[in-house]
Amino acid sequence: MMRDVAEILLTREEIRARVQDIGYQISRDFQEKDLLLVGILKGSMIFLADLLRVIQIPVLIDFMSISSYGAATASSGVVRILKDLEEPIEGRNVVVVEDIVDTGLTLSYLMRNLQSRQPKSLRICALLDKPARRIVDVDIAYKGFSIEDRFVVGYGLDFAEHYRHLPYICVLKDEVIKGGNHS
Ligand code: 5GP
Repeated sequence: MMRDVAEILLTREEIRARVQDIGYQISRDFQEKDLLLVGILKGSMIFLADLLRVIQIPVLIDFMSISSYGAATASSGVVRILKDLEEPIEGRNVVVVEDIVDTGLTLSYLMRNLQSRQPKSLRICALLDKPARRIVDVDIAYKGFSIEDRFVVGYGLDFAEHYRHLPYICVLKDEVIKGGNHS
């Protein structure tokens, strides 16, 4: 275990098993349909890569990159699109792949934006859910794990861009978060 890590919440084996289940479920639900997975950068990158490889039907991928406008507009959930999709999604079956749903503000804004492009269907797949912090309701069709209200990193999730490479989901030591002295 890395020295900055206080506790591992989800091991790589637990994550692998759950991602496998979700992949099977999506494969069943979208048989005979053209499926597009939309990964939200950068946090969902590793989840999307693993999910993709357990999906057993034809599937395409695209990416969006977004950033929130900062504290002043945090409660509106308005996000800035840094990178948009490469292709239109009109008439397509879209599953948005996100790392974690916290307040729900980011995803609810994003889903309104994507819905306006008239996909045939639009669902959310999120690895982690922190229901305790929810401000707006979002319907998560495919959910990996519900977790308590703690700041987690690893498996794609970062703290100041670090720790994305850790193969498990974990909580950092207090002194790392406070000191900003991450390795
Ligand atoms: P929401 O709009 O749902 O509050 O924000 C979701 C975004 O906040 C996630 O995509 C993620 O970037 C960030 N976030 C929320 N909770 C955590 C967490 O525990 N760890 C990390 N690394 N990011 C989080």
